[in-house]
Amino acid sequence: MKKISIIVPCYNEQEAIPFFHEEISKVADSMKEKAEFELIFVNDGSKDETLKVLREYSKKDARTNYISFARNFGKEAAMLAGLKEATGDYVAIMDADLQDPPSLLPEMFDTLEAGEYDCVGTRRVTRKGEPKIRSWFAKLFYKIMNKISDTNLVDGARDFRLMTRQMVDAILEMSEYNRFSKGIFGFVGFNIKWLEYENIERVAGQTKWSFWKLFWYALDGFTAFSTMPLIISAIIGILFGVVAFILLVIGLVLTFTGSGTVWLYITALIFFVSAVQLVCFGIMGEYLAKAYLEVKHRPVYIVKERNEDFKKVNG
Ligand code: UDP
Ligand code: MG
Repeated sequence: MKKISIIVPCYNEQEAIPFFHEEISKVADSMKEKAEFELIFVNDGSKDETLKVLREYSKKDARTNYISFARNFGKEAAMLAGLKEATGDYVAIMDADLQDPPSLLPEMFDTLEAGEYDCVGTRRVTRKGEPKIRSWFAKLFYKIMNKISDTNLVDGARDFRLMTRQMVDAILEMSEYNRFSKGIFGFVGFNIKWLEYENIERVAGQTKWSFWKLFWYALDGFTAFSTMPLIISAIIGILFGVVAFILLVIGLVLTFTGSGTVWLYITALIFFVSAVQLVCFGIMGEYLAKAYLEVKHRPVYIVKERNEDFKKVNG
């Protein structure tokens, strides 16, 4: 019998939790022949009665557990805490608002049991019910992110995914402080199967993500998984160098044809000096980028499989 851990980050979700608990319990009951469930609610410093609701459910229901943060640390922190506490063979992360449909779990479970995949992820193929401008920025984010980092991000991918213990352990090895899970999931690799579904609106309560919160989160994503911004100055510097060179050539030509002006030389000189400075910044940025990646202490590689005999010798 396999054990499934469900991690539910909760921030001010007093209204949504009862709906969620009912749905997930239904699914858990329907799967009780195949798997046992462990629910781990992480109360992320809610200001409403979330903690009280969780206390009650944990008393009533043996499957339900909770941990509660001393203050709001953000969804990333809540997910990490849940992953650390989870003891299941398979682990899923789900929102409390039923935007991640529990009814997908049986299919996800069967797919992992078949053994070919290490993770079943979910992605929304529509964003209906979401403000247009928000969808547009989200699309732009995925485009830029995939251009400037090595980590592949799938547009519309949710944090809702069922993962094997092996993949969870790999994620926990990523010990960085500034966590950007969408990037981390991509970084660790493994075989992922995507289930697609239409966007569902939250069952109760309100979204915790304002436009600006999402904007800063996107910047976190860029800076956590790309060091490209650090060398932008070098690229501008090189462009300035080219401009300086062109101005110099024009200046020389004009001087030799007799209509030369000293301003061209001065402008060329200004561009040249700026170019040198910007390129120097870029070089420093490159070293900073290396240092930045070092201090994250990310695993250099992640092993997925080794032969049985070798396992006996090397654990
Ligand atoms: N959440 C959290 N801490 C926060 C913000 C959100 O634990 O600081 C939780 C929230 O309770 C929910 C999940 O993260 O279970 C996703 O948040 P929400 O549904 O508001 O985001 P949306 O689906 O609108 O993007
Ligand atoms: Mg939601």
